[in-house]
Amino acid sequence: MGGRGGGEVELSSLIIPGGESTTMAKLAEYHNLFPALREFVKTGKPVWGTCAGLIFLADRAVGQKEGGQELVGGLDCTVHRNFFGSQIQSFEADISVPLLTSKEGGAETFRGVFIRAPAVLDVGPDVEVLAHCPVPSNKVLYSSSTVQIQEEDALPETKVIVAVKQRNLLATAFHPELTADTRWHSYFMKMTKEMEQGGSSSSSSSTIVSVGETSVGTELAKPDIPIYLSN
Ligand code: GLN
Repeated sequence: MGGRGGGEVELSSLIIPGGESTTMAKLAEYHNLFPALREFVKTGKPVWGTCAGLIFLADRAVGQKEGGQELVGGLDCTVHRNFFGSQIQSFEADISVPLLTSKEGGAETFRGVFIRAPAVLDVGPDVEVLAHCPVPSNKVLYSSSTVQIQEEDALPETKVIVAVKQRNLLATAFHPELTADTRWHSYFMKMTKEMEQGGSSSSSSSTIVSVGETSVGTELAKPDIPIYLSN
């Protein structure tokens, strides 16, 4: 996302994608990218971290490989790197997204694709929680700020935080780019526009986002892609 101005790349916003955060951190360290990433976070321009990107943005992480890993930080929360288990425990779930629905319309739930996904264990006072994922309580190993819910005749469930926002930072534990529902993208685009209209971003910068063949903000053109099926 961005344009060029004065020989430098002028970014209006940044997405740090999913992947594998230890490897990404090693590469970022090798290429000396951390200072520029931290600098960018501090500019107040929108940054969206998905999955490993969420881990990158967190101020604190647990469940790291021995020796830990460097983080970009900025988001006042603690993440667990592999909260939901290993790769084969990846799953899909409908999560309730009240704020997203109020801003973007559409269904009250969002199909979250969780691939060896992290979760947010606790958040600081400036962090807004945008989505929880319900999981059976007996599967939750870390529960510093999870909320127990008990419905009649059902197993107790715990609500685990999976999407947060703190000022310019948006973070999702799941992969919105793997579904045809573009509301998170559209929401992020609005954060970018608001920032630009606020005047602190260069007028030469530009934002182009496309999801497969579907431009963000247009009608959904494709059905959801079933990558991982929940059981
Ligand atoms: N849990 C992975 C990590 O540690 C992230 C997985 C993902 O980005 N899909 O980086």
